[in-house]
Amino acid sequence: MKQRTATTGVRQAFLCAPLCPLWLRISLALSLLLAVSSSVACGKADHSNASAATKPESPAAAPAPPEAVRPDTAPLPQIDAKRAFQYTREVTAFGPRYMGNENHKKLERYILDHLKGDQVEDDSFIADTVEGKFPVRNIIAKYPGTKDGIIVIVGHYDTNYPLRDTGFVGANDGGSSTAILLEYAHHLRGNKRDGYSVWLVWSDGEEAVRQWSATDSLYGTRHLAEKWDKDGTLKKIKALMVMDMIGDADLDVQRDTNSTPWLLDLIYAAAQRGGYQSHFYAFQGAMEDDHLPFVKRGVPCADIIDIDYGYNDVFHHTPQDTIDKLSPKSLEIVGNTTLETIRLLDHR
Ligand SMILES: [Zn+2]
Repeated sequence: MKQRTATTGVRQAFLCAPLCPLWLRISLALSLLLAVSSSVACGKADHSNASAATKPESPAAAPAPPEAVRPDTAPLPQIDAKRAFQYTREVTAFGPRYMGNENHKKLERYILDHLKGDQVEDDSFIADTVEGKFPVRNIIAKYPGTKDGIIVIVGHYDTNYPLRDTGFVGANDGGSSTAILLEYAHHLRGNKRDGYSVWLVWSDGEEAVRQWSATDSLYGTRHLAEKWDKDGTLKKIKALMVMDMIGDADLDVQRDTNSTPWLLDLIYAAAQRGGYQSHFYAFQGAMEDDHLPFVKRGVPCADIIDIDYGYNDVFHHTPQDTIDKLSPKSLEIVGNTTLETIRLLDHR
């Protein structure tokens, strides 16, 4: 099966938010840096060759004769985009939800209220940061399957701490990720899944409290990865996918070079089944996000993120990150693609 065509172009992107760019930095090849001729720090580069992300067809991999191919006719999973968008609206309406504040506590309660009857675990601890000590709470909902192994979906629910007094509500950055996981829960609960177990993780403390660095960021997932390393859970994880900033009405999910290539290819194949491929991987870059602590420990990971939020990422980490910039259609594209990826993983 062809996963991508050789004509799919990949642009390398150099994107950053002028105010708070550091939580997700995109590394560039030197050649690309040279191509950015102006002194402006942010901007998109020109088209580059797609060699990093396309797979030339091997002459040995001749297609099987038609009679040997069983076409995959399973219907594409469908999320309820209206409901997912309503969740995003409700989560955002809590206001700023940074680590340790009252709205954060209300949101924890809101998430737990939507998981009644599900198997839920907490990973709670106190993070010692450059801004003091903060309570951190990852919320994990587990949906058992018949196959031996776990697929993990992670989405952060905290909002940016340094922007706490600016009116920043993180509709996309924090809101969309919280909401899409709540939507997934509808599709996972009920009878035991015919496939891998799926665990949803609402991660906390993704954001830096002062300035993004290896020690000031990803508080929740760094703790969880270490815990799962020690208790043997990591070995059971078949794939881990992060959802972040996936509500942008102008959806273009970047191909993250820190992610696991085969998993990115599988996501692309899932997107193709839905006819959504034009929203995936036109750009590529190295993302620092909640998947990193797991990547470092050898877990197959993919960061599903649209870091290009508004022209030149102008809405990212600004008070303009509001619900009017988002679209139910984008949640649907990412949601259906992710559920389809889970199905493909189940049959892999
Ligand atoms: Zn952020």
